[in-house]
Amino acid sequence: MICPKCGQEIIDPKEFCVRCGTRLAKTKEVSRKGLFIFIIIMILIGIFTCYMVVNYNTDKEIKPYIEKK
Ligand SMILES: [Zn+2]
Repeated sequence: MICPKCGQEIIDPKEFCVRCGTRLAKTKEVSRKGLFIFIIIMILIGIFTCYMVVNYNTDKEIKPYIEKK
C-alpha cells in the first residue's frame, strides 16, 4: 500500500507510516470490518448447517415411527 500523506510505499502494512508517521488505521479498520462480516457469515452458515442436519436427522428418526402407526 501507499501512504496517503507522503506517498511512501509501505511493503509491510503497519499501523503507522515508516516515513512520516501518519496513522494508517483506515485500511486496518476496513479489513477488520470485512473479517467481522466474514465471521458473521460463517456463523450463519454454521447455524443453517446445524439446523438442516438436526431437521434431517429428526425427520429420519420420526418417519419410521409414524409409518408403524
Ligand atoms: Zn507517510
